[in-house]
Parts: sequence; C-alpha cells; structure tokens
Amino acid sequence: MNLSTAPLLAFGAHPDDIEFGAGAIVARETQSGRPAHFAVCSRGEAGTNGTPAERTKETERAAKALGATVEFLELDGDSHLELRNAHALKLAAVIRTVRPALVLAPSPEPNQHPDHWRLGQLVRDATRLARYGGLKELKSQTPHAIGQLFFYALGPGAEPRDLSPVVIDISAKEVMAAWTKSMEAHASQMKTRNYVELQLARARVHGLNAGVAHGQLLWPNDPLVFHSLTDISRGARRF
Ligand SMILES: [Zn+2]
Repeated sequence: MNLSTAPLLAFGAHPDDIEFGAGAIVARETQSGRPAHFAVCSRGEAGTNGTPAERTKETERAAKALGATVEFLELDGDSHLELRNAHALKLAAVIRTVRPALVLAPSPEPNQHPDHWRLGQLVRDATRLARYGGLKELKSQTPHAIGQLFFYALGPGAEPRDLSPVVIDISAKEVMAAWTKSMEAHASQMKTRNYVELQLARARVHGLNAGVAHGQLLWPNDPLVFHSLTDISRGARRF
C-alpha cells in the first residue's frame, strides 16, 4: 500500500460531522491527489432542522466540494446508534471495500452526541476486524490493514484528554475555500447556530497556537511511526 496515494476513508454519524470536524484535512489530502470516501451513518432524521432528503442533498454537495465520494450506511438511525458487533462488521466491510491508508472517525469521548462516541468506538473495532482473515461474515472480501486511525473532534468537549493531537496546517487558500464551501452546503443546520463561524474560529485558535494561520487537529489512535526525526522536529509550542 502506497501511504501517500492510498485512499482516505472518513466515517460520520450525521450528514455534516466529517465536514465540520475534519473537512479541511480532507480537502488538503484530495487536493494533493489522494482519493477520499465518506461513509455517513444516518441522514440526520432526528435533527431539529432539515429533512432527511434535504440533508442527503447537502451531504452530496459538501462531499463534492471536498473532492470526496459519499455513501450512506443504514445502522440504527440518527440518535439510536448502538454498540453492536454486527455494526463493527458492517463498517469493516466498508474498510475492506475502500482499502484506505487513513481512517477518520469521531472521537470516542463521551461528553458529546452519543452517536459520535459510539461510532468512534465502532470504527476502532472495525479497523481491527477488517484485517482478521478468518471472519466468516467478511469472507467474500480480502482482509485489509489500514495505516492509521485518527479521531476528529466536533467541539472542545469531544477533544480526547488522554491522547496528544497532531496539528494539520490547513492555511492554504484553496483548502480553506473548499472547506468553507463544504460547511456552507449544510445550510439547513445554520438555523440552529452558525457552525461555520464556530469551526473557522476553532481552526484559527488551533492554528495560532501552533504558529500557523489555521490548523485542524486529529488524535492518532496508535503511536505514530517516523523514519526520521526531521518529520517530527516541529512542535506546536512556539518557544
Ligand atoms: Zn453529529
């Protein structure tokens, strides 16, 4: 597997999760030539604003702005997601189909929408199940080992306390433009709060803290492996 061109696979519990939590990172990757695919696990049918049909359309527009393809998975529906091994197997089947190097999922931190942390746990399980050769439910597909699982956080409450984040510099104009467009595609959700402003402000703070204009954070599920200290010589703290 070529780690710089193998696909990125992002999971979201609701139609706008990936865009708001990690959209700029997706834009950065697709703009450098990496394919990206979204697996969205509900159509937002429990939300206050927007019908499932509207939200499906918004998601398709948003994914397009980020250069990603999108599919919807039927699990238990919005606000009903349960931790079940059958779900992890279903997500593992998606991993075997897409065969990604990178997998993104909402963080498993409990102080947020219950679908978010449950999906984070299910995806973590799925990345393991995807590589076990003897699973009869997945027998029709070749096992697949991903390169790395990263968690994204939709707000400060969702940021994992026990993992150190990596800061991705998303300052490039084309990246910020694609990301903003993808968030604005979810127009039905702006009736509740201005989530675009919120995420842009968050990215500005994360960026300034790391000495760049805008940054988005990811939390690696496992220790990162580097071939050289040069790759990790730039810390976020500005001395
Ligand atoms: Zn959500």
